[in-house]
Amino acid sequence: MINLVLFGPPGAGKGTQAEFLVEKYSLVHISTGDVFRANIKNGTPLGKEAESYIKKGALVPDEITIGMLEAVVEENLATAKGFIFDGFPRTQAQGEALDAFLEKKGLAVSAMLALEVEDEVLVGRLLERGKTSGRADDADESVIRARIAEYYQKTNVLKDFYSAQGKYHGVDGVGSIPEIAERLSMIVDKL
Ligand code: AMP
Repeated sequence: MINLVLFGPPGAGKGTQAEFLVEKYSLVHISTGDVFRANIKNGTPLGKEAESYIKKGALVPDEITIGMLEAVVEENLATAKGFIFDGFPRTQAQGEALDAFLEKKGLAVSAMLALEVEDEVLVGRLLERGKTSGRADDADESVIRARIAEYYQKTNVLKDFYSAQGKYHGVDGVGSIPEIAERLSMIVDKL
């Protein structure tokens, strides 16, 4: 099984590149952001709990997020050839929980693919995306900046976490979509 963690700040292009990787390597795509948004749309208790954090650009607490992620992986485990985790893990505790959970199943993260993009480019991309995404957290520049700040405060540490395991692969996230996809493929093909 190939299990990829697609990593990078908000607006780095994780969702776009996940679509390509899913297609090319037949992986199951799990975006925790998408799962939260679906729950909010359907008015579930999980959605109600998560919404207040998402609105502010803050991370949803680990207790909620980890349980949700594990449930989605569990549902797909029997049929999946591998997973692409998009937007998870986002804290050291989530990284540790994912490793422990996969280990119990005899699995492991194969690689972290990190899309590297400068902050000002991210803000511009997210404001542009906000014109069509329908996401309230893309429409407000202060919320966008709060999301980027959360990334540096809580998520960026995962670079060291996966580097220590020899699994970190940084990729220049600026360029055309096919160019960036090619950079990612070169790494995945060597796994
Ligand atoms: P995304 O679609 O990945 O940009 O996620 C949108 C929002 O959902 C984030 O700003 C967080 O509030 C929340 N979220 C998504 N994934 C996670 C996660 N792994 N941990 C905590 N919060 C998350």
